Amino acid sequence: MTHAGSPHGTEGLNRADGSPSASGLRQVSLARLREFGITPKRDLGQNFLIDDNILGVILGPLECGPEDIVLEVGAGLGVLTGALAGVAGHVHAFEVDKSLAAPLAATLRGDPKVGLHFQDVLKAPLEQLDPVPTLCASNLPYSVAGPFIIESLLRLPSVRRYCVMVQREVAERLAAAPGSKTYGVLSVWVQLYARIVRVRPLSRSIFYPQPHVDSSLVVLERLPAERLPSCHPAQLRAVIQGAFGQRRKTLVNALSAGLELTREQALALVTSLGLPANVRAERLAPGQFVALAERAFAGGAAAIPANLKLRVDRLF
Ligand code: SAM
Repeated sequence: MTHAGSPHGTEGLNRADGSPSASGLRQVSLARLREFGITPKRDLGQNFLIDDNILGVILGPLECGPEDIVLEVGAGLGVLTGALAGVAGHVHAFEVDKSLAAPLAATLRGDPKVGLHFQDVLKAPLEQLDPVPTLCASNLPYSVAGPFIIESLLRLPSVRRYCVMVQREVAERLAAAPGSKTYGVLSVWVQLYARIVRVRPLSRSIFYPQPHVDSSLVVLERLPAERLPSCHPAQLRAVIQGAFGQRRKTLVNALSAGLELTREQALALVTSLGLPANVRAERLAPGQFVALAERAFAGGAAAIPANLKLRVDRLF
Protein backbone atom coordinates (compact mmCIF):
# COMPACT_ATOMS: atom_id res chain seq x y z
CA MET A 1 0.00 0.00 0.00
CA THR A 2 1.67 3.23 -1.09
CA HIS A 3 0.22 6.71 -1.04
CA ALA A 4 1.46 8.32 -4.18
CA GLY A 5 -0.92 11.26 -3.77
CA SER A 6 0.54 12.38 -0.46
CA PRO A 7 2.27 15.74 -0.62
CA HIS A 8 5.26 14.58 1.43
CA GLY A 9 8.31 14.77 -0.69
CA THR A 10 10.14 11.72 0.55
CA GLU A 11 9.38 8.20 -0.57
CA GLY A 12 10.13 6.74 2.84
CA LEU A 13 7.31 8.72 4.43
CA ASN A 14 4.62 7.58 2.10
CA ARG A 15 4.85 3.88 2.61
CA ALA A 16 2.26 2.58 5.02
CA ASP A 17 3.39 -1.03 4.55
CA GLY A 18 6.83 -0.23 5.91
CA SER A 19 8.68 -1.67 2.92
CA PRO A 20 12.18 -0.34 2.34
CA SER A 21 12.39 2.64 0.05
CA ALA A 22 15.07 4.54 -1.78
CA SER A 23 15.30 7.25 0.87
CA GLY A 24 13.83 5.87 4.08
CA LEU A 25 13.12 7.13 7.53
CA ARG A 26 16.76 6.99 8.64
CA GLN A 27 17.78 9.39 5.91
CA VAL A 28 14.77 11.66 6.42
CA SER A 29 15.12 11.93 10.21
CA LEU A 30 18.91 12.29 10.22
CA ALA A 31 18.82 14.78 7.33
CA ARG A 32 16.22 16.92 9.13
CA LEU A 33 18.33 16.99 12.30
CA ARG A 34 21.44 17.96 10.32
CA GLU A 35 19.69 20.46 8.08
CA PHE A 36 18.11 22.35 11.00
CA GLY A 37 21.00 21.88 13.45
CA ILE A 38 18.83 20.04 15.98
CA THR A 39 20.22 18.12 18.92
CA PRO A 40 17.60 15.70 20.29
CA LYS A 41 16.43 16.71 23.78
CA ARG A 42 16.54 13.85 26.22
CA ASP A 43 14.25 15.55 28.75
CA LEU A 44 11.49 15.63 26.11
CA GLY A 45 12.01 11.96 25.24
CA GLN A 46 13.21 12.80 21.73
CA ASN A 47 14.10 9.41 20.27
CA PHE A 48 13.14 9.70 16.63
CA LEU A 49 12.03 6.84 14.40
CA ILE A 50 14.63 5.84 11.81
CA ASP A 51 13.44 2.40 10.67
CA ASP A 52 11.14 2.00 7.65
CA ASN A 53 9.48 -1.16 8.92
CA ILE A 54 8.11 0.57 11.99
CA LEU A 55 5.52 2.50 9.99
CA GLY A 56 3.89 -0.76 8.94
CA VAL A 57 4.16 -2.10 12.50
CA ILE A 58 2.17 0.90 13.77
CA LEU A 59 -0.26 1.36 10.89
CA GLY A 60 -1.16 -2.35 10.58
CA PRO A 61 -2.93 -2.82 13.95
CA LEU A 62 -4.20 0.78 13.91
CA GLU A 63 -6.63 -0.18 11.11
CA CYS A 64 -7.00 3.42 10.04
CA GLY A 65 -9.23 4.43 7.14
CA PRO A 66 -10.01 7.72 5.37
CA GLU A 67 -12.92 8.35 7.75
CA ASP A 68 -10.60 8.23 10.78
CA ILE A 69 -9.20 11.18 12.70
CA VAL A 70 -5.89 10.35 14.35
CA LEU A 71 -4.42 11.97 17.44
CA GLU A 72 -0.62 11.89 17.56
CA VAL A 73 1.35 12.99 20.61
CA GLY A 74 4.87 14.22 19.88
CA ALA A 75 5.09 14.80 16.13
CA GLY A 76 8.88 15.19 16.36
CA LEU A 77 10.29 15.41 12.84
CA GLY A 78 6.95 14.38 11.34
CA VAL A 79 7.78 10.98 9.88
CA LEU A 80 4.93 9.13 11.62
CA THR A 81 2.65 12.16 11.17
CA GLY A 82 3.20 12.03 7.41
CA ALA A 83 2.52 8.30 7.23
CA LEU A 84 -0.68 8.74 9.27
CA ALA A 85 -1.85 11.55 6.99
CA GLY A 86 -1.36 9.14 4.09
CA VAL A 87 -4.11 6.86 5.37
CA ALA A 88 -6.35 8.97 7.68
CA GLY A 89 -8.90 11.68 7.01
CA HIS A 90 -7.13 14.07 9.37
CA VAL A 91 -4.27 14.03 11.91
CA HIS A 92 -4.09 16.17 15.05
CA ALA A 93 -0.38 16.25 15.85
CA PHE A 94 0.80 17.71 19.18
CA GLU A 95 4.38 18.82 19.69
CA VAL A 96 5.60 20.73 22.73
CA ASP A 97 9.00 21.65 21.25
CA LYS A 98 8.54 24.73 19.04
CA SER A 99 12.09 24.42 17.73
CA LEU A 100 10.81 21.46 15.68
CA ALA A 101 8.38 23.69 13.75
CA ALA A 102 10.74 24.21 10.80
CA PRO A 103 11.76 20.54 10.31
CA LEU A 104 8.14 19.51 10.73
CA ALA A 105 7.07 21.99 8.05
CA ALA A 106 9.81 20.64 5.77
CA THR A 107 8.60 17.07 6.24
CA LEU A 108 4.87 17.75 6.02
CA ARG A 109 4.96 20.39 3.27
CA GLY A 110 1.73 22.06 4.30
CA ASP A 111 -0.31 18.85 4.15
CA PRO A 112 -3.90 20.06 4.65
CA LYS A 113 -4.72 16.81 6.42
CA VAL A 114 -2.42 17.65 9.34
CA GLY A 115 -3.39 20.04 12.14
CA LEU A 116 -0.29 20.94 14.17
CA HIS A 117 -0.76 21.90 17.82
CA PHE A 118 2.41 23.31 19.36
CA GLN A 119 1.57 22.77 22.99
CA ASP A 120 1.94 20.38 25.89
CA VAL A 121 -0.66 17.70 25.25
CA LEU A 122 -1.25 17.30 28.99
CA LYS A 123 -2.44 20.91 29.18
CA ALA A 124 -4.48 20.86 25.98
CA PRO A 125 -8.29 21.06 25.89
CA LEU A 126 -8.58 17.63 24.27
CA GLU A 127 -12.39 17.73 24.35
CA GLN A 128 -12.34 20.69 21.97
CA LEU A 129 -10.44 18.96 19.17
CA ASP A 130 -12.29 19.34 15.88
CA PRO A 131 -12.71 17.00 14.07
CA VAL A 132 -13.08 14.60 16.97
CA PRO A 133 -10.30 11.96 17.15
CA THR A 134 -11.23 8.32 16.57
CA LEU A 135 -7.76 6.73 16.88
CA CYS A 136 -4.51 7.45 18.66
CA ALA A 137 -1.11 6.55 17.21
CA SER A 138 2.08 7.85 18.84
CA ASN A 139 5.66 7.24 19.76
CA LEU A 140 4.96 8.51 23.27
CA PRO A 141 7.59 10.35 25.30
CA TYR A 142 8.17 8.63 28.65
CA SER A 143 6.99 11.37 30.97
CA VAL A 144 3.72 11.76 29.08
CA ALA A 145 2.72 8.16 28.34
CA GLY A 146 0.86 7.20 31.53
CA PRO A 147 -0.98 10.47 32.23
CA PHE A 148 -1.86 10.93 28.55
CA ILE A 149 -3.33 7.43 28.18
CA ILE A 150 -5.46 7.82 31.31
CA GLU A 151 -6.57 11.38 30.55
CA SER A 152 -7.48 10.58 26.96
CA LEU A 153 -9.36 7.40 27.94
CA LEU A 154 -11.44 9.55 30.28
CA ARG A 155 -11.80 12.67 28.18
CA LEU A 156 -11.90 11.37 24.60
CA PRO A 157 -14.56 8.66 24.48
CA SER A 158 -14.50 8.89 20.68
CA VAL A 159 -11.03 7.27 20.52
CA ARG A 160 -11.69 3.58 19.92
CA ARG A 161 -8.14 2.27 19.53
CA TYR A 162 -4.61 3.20 20.60
CA CYS A 163 -1.48 1.98 18.88
CA VAL A 164 1.34 3.52 20.88
CA MET A 165 5.03 3.00 21.51
CA VAL A 166 5.99 3.24 25.18
CA GLN A 167 8.87 2.22 27.40
CA ARG A 168 8.68 -1.49 28.22
CA GLU A 169 8.26 -0.63 31.88
CA VAL A 170 5.10 1.38 31.07
CA ALA A 171 3.77 -1.48 28.92
CA GLU A 172 4.28 -3.83 31.88
CA ARG A 173 2.34 -1.49 34.15
CA LEU A 174 -0.51 -1.20 31.67
CA ALA A 175 -0.94 -4.98 31.53
CA ALA A 176 -0.03 -5.84 35.16
CA ALA A 177 -2.26 -8.19 37.15
CA PRO A 178 -3.34 -7.50 40.76
CA GLY A 179 -0.70 -8.54 43.26
CA SER A 180 2.22 -8.06 40.87
CA LYS A 181 5.01 -5.58 41.55
CA THR A 182 4.08 -3.31 38.66
CA TYR A 183 0.33 -3.21 39.34
CA GLY A 184 -0.85 0.28 40.24
CA VAL A 185 -2.83 3.36 39.27
CA LEU A 186 -2.03 3.06 35.56
CA SER A 187 -3.01 -0.64 35.40
CA VAL A 188 -6.32 -0.04 37.16
CA TRP A 189 -7.41 2.91 35.01
CA VAL A 190 -6.42 1.37 31.72
CA GLN A 191 -7.96 -2.01 32.47
CA LEU A 192 -11.24 -0.35 33.52
CA TYR A 193 -11.55 1.47 30.21
CA ALA A 194 -9.71 -0.65 27.66
CA ARG A 195 -8.69 -4.12 26.58
CA ILE A 196 -5.00 -4.68 25.99
CA VAL A 197 -4.97 -6.33 22.59
CA ARG A 198 -1.26 -6.67 22.02
CA VAL A 199 2.12 -5.87 23.55
CA ARG A 200 5.07 -6.31 21.22
CA PRO A 201 8.73 -5.67 22.05
CA LEU A 202 10.60 -3.21 19.82
CA SER A 203 14.28 -3.06 19.01
CA ARG A 204 16.23 -0.07 20.32
CA SER A 205 17.82 0.28 16.89
CA ILE A 206 14.64 1.76 15.38
CA PHE A 207 15.29 5.02 17.26
CA TYR A 208 17.85 7.80 16.97
CA PRO A 209 19.40 8.41 19.38
CA GLN A 210 19.08 4.87 20.76
CA PRO A 211 17.33 4.97 24.14
CA HIS A 212 18.94 3.35 27.18
CA VAL A 213 15.80 1.34 27.88
CA ASP A 214 13.60 -1.07 25.92
CA SER A 215 10.31 -0.08 24.29
CA SER A 216 7.12 -1.89 23.37
CA LEU A 217 4.26 -1.32 21.00
CA VAL A 218 0.94 -1.48 22.81
CA VAL A 219 -2.46 -1.80 21.16
CA LEU A 220 -5.46 -0.86 23.33
CA GLU A 221 -9.12 -1.03 22.44
CA ARG A 222 -11.73 0.95 24.33
CA LEU A 223 -14.31 -1.23 26.05
CA PRO A 224 -17.92 -0.86 24.90
CA ALA A 225 -19.91 1.77 26.83
CA GLU A 226 -21.92 -0.83 28.79
CA ARG A 227 -18.71 -2.26 30.29
CA LEU A 228 -17.28 1.07 31.45
CA PRO A 229 -17.37 2.04 35.15
CA SER A 230 -20.78 3.28 36.19
CA CYS A 231 -19.61 5.73 38.88
CA HIS A 232 -18.41 9.28 38.25
CA PRO A 233 -14.74 9.46 37.16
CA ALA A 234 -13.99 12.04 39.90
CA GLN A 235 -15.18 9.56 42.55
CA LEU A 236 -13.20 6.76 40.97
CA ARG A 237 -10.17 9.01 40.78
CA ALA A 238 -10.47 9.86 44.47
CA VAL A 239 -10.70 6.18 45.44
CA ILE A 240 -7.87 4.94 43.18
CA GLN A 241 -5.51 7.73 44.18
CA GLY A 242 -6.48 7.46 47.82
CA ALA A 243 -5.95 3.70 47.78
CA PHE A 244 -2.52 3.82 46.12
CA GLY A 245 -1.51 7.16 47.65
CA GLN A 246 0.33 5.56 50.51
CA ARG A 247 1.52 2.23 49.21
CA ARG A 248 2.89 0.93 52.47
CA LYS A 249 -0.40 1.48 54.29
CA THR A 250 -3.30 -0.92 54.40
CA LEU A 251 -6.25 -0.03 52.16
CA VAL A 252 -8.25 0.98 55.25
CA ASN A 253 -5.64 3.49 56.40
CA ALA A 254 -4.97 4.77 52.87
CA LEU A 255 -8.68 5.33 52.17
CA SER A 256 -9.23 6.91 55.55
CA ALA A 257 -6.53 9.50 54.75
CA GLY A 258 -7.32 9.89 51.05
CA LEU A 259 -11.10 10.14 51.34
CA GLU A 260 -11.27 11.98 54.66
CA LEU A 261 -13.10 9.09 56.33
CA THR A 262 -12.80 8.03 59.94
CA ARG A 263 -10.91 4.76 60.37
CA GLU A 264 -14.19 3.07 61.32
CA GLN A 265 -15.90 4.30 58.16
CA ALA A 266 -12.99 3.12 55.99
CA LEU A 267 -12.97 -0.26 57.75
CA ALA A 268 -16.72 -0.68 57.22
CA LEU A 269 -16.31 0.23 53.55
CA VAL A 270 -13.52 -2.27 52.93
CA THR A 271 -15.11 -5.16 54.84
CA SER A 272 -18.50 -4.52 53.18
CA LEU A 273 -16.89 -5.84 49.98
CA GLY A 274 -15.83 -9.01 51.77
CA LEU A 275 -12.19 -7.89 51.83
CA PRO A 276 -9.93 -8.56 54.83
CA ALA A 277 -9.28 -5.58 57.11
CA ASN A 278 -5.53 -5.65 56.42
CA VAL A 279 -5.76 -5.87 52.59
CA ARG A 280 -3.56 -3.54 50.51
CA ALA A 281 -4.62 -1.70 47.36
CA GLU A 282 -2.40 -3.76 45.05
CA ARG A 283 -4.46 -6.89 45.79
CA LEU A 284 -7.73 -5.45 44.45
CA ALA A 285 -8.98 -6.18 40.93
CA PRO A 286 -9.83 -3.06 38.86
CA GLY A 287 -13.58 -3.66 39.25
CA GLN A 288 -13.26 -3.63 43.05
CA PHE A 289 -12.17 0.02 42.96
CA VAL A 290 -15.43 0.80 41.16
CA ALA A 291 -17.38 -1.05 43.86
CA LEU A 292 -15.50 0.90 46.54
CA ALA A 293 -16.28 4.22 44.83
CA GLU A 294 -19.96 3.36 44.47
CA ARG A 295 -20.23 2.51 48.18
CA ALA A 296 -17.96 5.29 49.45
CA PHE A 297 -19.95 8.05 47.84
CA ALA A 298 -23.44 6.52 48.02
CA GLY A 299 -24.02 7.62 51.61
CA GLY A 300 -22.18 10.90 51.25
CA ALA A 301 -19.54 9.76 53.76
CA ALA A 302 -16.48 10.29 51.59
CA ALA A 303 -15.18 13.59 50.26
CA ILE A 304 -13.48 14.26 46.94
CA PRO A 305 -10.30 16.17 47.82
CA ALA A 306 -10.30 19.66 46.31
CA ASN A 307 -8.29 20.11 43.08
CA LEU A 308 -7.67 16.41 42.76
CA LYS A 309 -5.25 15.84 39.91
CA LEU A 310 -3.93 12.63 38.46
CA ARG A 311 -0.84 11.73 40.39
CA VAL A 312 0.53 8.85 38.41
CA ASP A 313 4.08 10.19 38.16
CA ARG A 314 5.30 9.07 41.58
CA LEU A 315 3.92 5.60 41.08
CA PHE A 316 6.10 4.87 38.04
N1 SAM B 1 6.88 11.07 16.46
C1 SAM B 1 8.30 11.28 16.38
C2 SAM B 1 8.98 10.01 15.94
O1 SAM B 1 8.41 8.96 16.23
O2 SAM B 1 10.08 10.06 15.39
C3 SAM B 1 8.90 11.78 17.69
C4 SAM B 1 8.66 10.88 18.89
S1 SAM B 1 9.64 11.32 20.30
C5 SAM B 1 9.72 9.78 21.15
C6 SAM B 1 8.50 12.17 21.35
C7 SAM B 1 8.12 13.56 20.92
O3 SAM B 1 7.17 14.06 21.87
C8 SAM B 1 9.25 14.57 20.91
O4 SAM B 1 9.27 15.25 19.68
C9 SAM B 1 8.95 15.54 22.06
O5 SAM B 1 9.40 16.85 21.83
C10 SAM B 1 7.43 15.44 22.13
N2 SAM B 1 6.86 15.75 23.47
C11 SAM B 1 7.43 15.54 24.68
N3 SAM B 1 6.59 15.92 25.66
C12 SAM B 1 5.46 16.38 25.05
C13 SAM B 1 4.22 16.92 25.54
N4 SAM B 1 3.99 17.06 26.85
N5 SAM B 1 3.28 17.30 24.64
C14 SAM B 1 3.51 17.16 23.30
N6 SAM B 1 4.68 16.66 22.78
C15 SAM B 1 5.62 16.27 23.65
